[in-house]
Amino acid sequence: MLKREEAHVVILGGGFAGLTAARALNVPGVRVTLVDRSNHHLFQPLLYQVATAALAAPDVSAPIRKLLWRQDNCTVLMAGVQRIEVEKRRVLLDGRHLDYDYLILATGMRSAYFGHDRWASHAPGLKTIGDALDVRRRILRAFEAAELEIGPEARRAWTTFVVIGGGPTGVELAGALAEIAGRTLARDFRHFDPRTTRVILIEAGPRVLSAFPEDLSAKAHRELVSLGIEVRTGAAVTDVGPDFVELGDETIVTRTVLWAAGVHASPLTTHLGVPMDRAGRIWVEEDLSVPDRPEVFVVGDLIAKTQNGRPLPGVAQLAVQSGRHAARNVMLSVLGQTREPFRYVDKGSMATIGRHKAVAQLGRFHFSGVFAWWLWLTVHLLSLVSFRSRLAVLIEWAFAYFTWQRRSRVILEVPREPEAQARPSVIGAAVRIEEEVPHANGSSAPGARSPPALHV
Ligand SMILES: Cc1cc2nc3c(=O)[nH]c(=O)nc-3n(C[C@H](O)[C@H](O)[C@H](O)COP(=O)(O)OP(=O)(O)OC[C@H]3O[C@@H](n4cnc5c(N)ncnc54)[C@H](O)[C@@H]3O)c2cc1C
Repeated sequence: MLKREEAHVVILGGGFAGLTAARALNVPGVRVTLVDRSNHHLFQPLLYQVATAALAAPDVSAPIRKLLWRQDNCTVLMAGVQRIEVEKRRVLLDGRHLDYDYLILATGMRSAYFGHDRWASHAPGLKTIGDALDVRRRILRAFEAAELEIGPEARRAWTTFVVIGGGPTGVELAGALAEIAGRTLARDFRHFDPRTTRVILIEAGPRVLSAFPEDLSAKAHRELVSLGIEVRTGAAVTDVGPDFVELGDETIVTRTVLWAAGVHASPLTTHLGVPMDRAGRIWVEEDLSVPDRPEVFVVGDLIAKTQNGRPLPGVAQLAVQSGRHAARNVMLSVLGQTREPFRYVDKGSMATIGRHKAVAQLGRFHFSGVFAWWLWLTVHLLSLVSFRSRLAVLIEWAFAYFTWQRRSRVILEVPREPEAQARPSVIGAAVRIEEEVPHANGSSAPGARSPPALHV
C-alpha cells in the first residue's frame, strides 16, 4: 500500500498562537516547521515586570526548541522571515526558501507611533525582551542620573516619568513605577527623595482601560491616583523628544518616556495581497483562512474579525484559541473533511495597578481590589508555559511581597531588537541546503538564481 505524503505545515511565529498551533498539530499525517526570529517564546503579559525590575528575562521566556522537543514531527528554525510568496507557496527566510502545503501566519504586532517613527528612539515600546531590558535600563539610569544632578530642574526632569497609553500595559507600567519610586528605591539615594518622583499617565481617550466596563475603568483611575500618579485622560501627545513630551500647548520636561499607545501588524501581512484593517491585520474568513487562499491561515493578534458586532481583541486568549482552531482546520483539510468556523470564547479580562489593586471582568461579574489582584496573580502564574518559569516567578513574587524589593536591578546595555543571526548551516542536521546563493533577497530577476530550498 502506498504511504500518503505528509502535509507540510509551516508556522511563522512562536508566540501564543504559533506555539499552540504547533502543539495541536502533533498528529500523524503532517509535519510541522515552526519559524521564529527569536529562540524563545515570550509571555508578553508579564513583560512589564521585566521592564520594571520585578522579574528577570528568563522568568517570562522559554526556548521554543525546548517547549517542542518531544514533538517528533516538528522542526524549529530560528530565522527571520523576509517574504511570503503565496503563488509559489513558499516563504523566504534568511536567503533560503521553505515550501509549504499549509501556512499559519502568527507573527503578531509591533509597536507603532502613528506615523511619528522619530518618537521610537525617545519613547521605547514594550514588545520584546530587548525592549523590556531597554526600558528597565532607562528607568534605573534615570534615578542614578538624578543622584548625580545638582540643579533641581535637571533633577526634576530625571525624576519625571511619562507613560503614553492608558491601556493595560500603560496602567501596569505606571503603577509599577509609582511603587518603585515610593517603596523599592525610597531609601537608596542621598541627594534626593525618590518619593518625590512624578509619574504621569497620558491617555488620548476619555478613560483608562477603555476596553473594560466603565465602572472598572473608573475604579482603576482612582487606584492610580491613590498611588500618586497623575492621570491625564483626553490628552493627545503632539510631540516627543529626548527631554520633553508635548501635549498641544503644554510641555512636560522629562528624560524618560515609555510608549504603550499603539501597535501595528507584522509587515508580513502585506505579502498576502488581501484586505487589511488600518492596523495591518487581515480580514480572515470564518475558518481563519485568507480570502481565496484556503491553504493560508492567519491567527492571533493578526486577525481582523468581528463577532457579535465587536472586533476581536488582541489578547492571549484569542491567540491560543485561534492557533488551536487553525491547526484543527488544517487537520480537517488533510483528512478531506469540511472545515469549521471559528468562534471566540471570551473568558474575561484583567489588569493590575499595583499591590492589592487590580480590576477583573469575568462575564457579567466585575471585581476590583484585593480579590481581583490575587486572581490576576493566580491566572498569570498558571498561564506561564513552563514549570521552571512558574516556580521562578512564584519565588520572586513571594520575595517581593514581603520585602517590597525588586531583584532584577542590573543595568545592562542592550540592543533594542535582538535579531536572529542563525543561518541554515547551523540549524541542525534535519536541514539540508540544496545550493548556495550569493544574495539573500530572493530575487527572481532574469539570471538570478532561486533561493535554495530548505528540506525539513
Ligand atoms: C506588554 C504586553 C502586555 C500584554 N498583556 C496582556 C494580558 O495581560 N492579557 C492578555 O490576554 N494579553 C496581553 N497582551 C497581548 C498578548 O500578549 C498578545 O495578544 C499575544 O501575545 C499575541 O500572540 P501572537 O502569537 O499572535 O503574537 P506574539 O506573541 O507577538 O508572537 C509573535 C511571534 O512572531 C515572531 N515574529 C515576528 N515577526 C517575525 C518574522 N518576520 N520572522 C520570524 N518570526 C517573527 C516573534 O518573534 C514572536 O515570537 C499583552 C501584550 C503586550 C505586548
